[in-house]
Amino acid sequence: MTLDAVLPPQCLACNASVDRPGNLCAGCFTKFTFITPPHCDCCGVPLETPVIEDVLCGACLSDRPAFDQARAVFLYTADSRHLILKLKHGDRTDAAVSLARWMQRAGVALIADCDVIVPVPLHRWRLLSRMYNQSALLANALGNECGKPVIPDAVTRVKATPVQGGLDRAARRKNVARAFAVKNPSVIQDRRVLLIDDVLTTGATTSACAATLLGAGAASVSVLVLARVPLTNA
Ligand SMILES: [Zn+2]
Ligand SMILES: [Zn+2]
Repeated sequence: MTLDAVLPPQCLACNASVDRPGNLCAGCFTKFTFITPPHCDCCGVPLETPVIEDVLCGACLSDRPAFDQARAVFLYTADSRHLILKLKHGDRTDAAVSLARWMQRAGVALIADCDVIVPVPLHRWRLLSRMYNQSALLANALGNECGKPVIPDAVTRVKATPVQGGLDRAARRKNVARAFAVKNPSVIQDRRVLLIDDVLTTGATTSACAATLLGAGAASVSVLVLARVPLTNA
């Protein structure tokens, strides 16, 4: 008998009882803002006005990220942040499987078009202090769900980057420049890479990671995350 059969299923966010494992309870469901069109064709940020097709947000128009496309499941809010922190701190590592299924739905096209799945790496000291690399947890769970190969250590951090909070877009981009390395380029050579992270903020970190992969020979890089921060000027 598995644990699932013994324990009543719990809401991913608040641990209330739910019908099926991996669900949110009705109260939490209303607090999450799942991302639906219209959104920026590149970075996936929700746009307020309906668009025809292939429209870019202002940020992508002025400074196109290195990745082709990014998609997210829901907006980064107080409630989704709480859920992601549980994953980071190892309280609900079981949630990674359920969250990966949500990512699979949000990123159907990106997953179909990728050859390999690669998590955005944490720096070693953060890995130690947080215990769990939530990006790797999500990438592994997604790989199990969709059957695409996962290369957990394809990209590594080469220097500690200070916590990104409080920096503007330009400062963040400068901060993460040359922060990543691909030690063994043959594993991503001519491959279409799907980068996995928990949260997309301005996209500067993710774009730097994508640029590193492209520089090492990846054919293309797209991005799939759980949550993204809404842009105030979108
Ligand atoms: Zn709940
Ligand atoms: Zn955009």
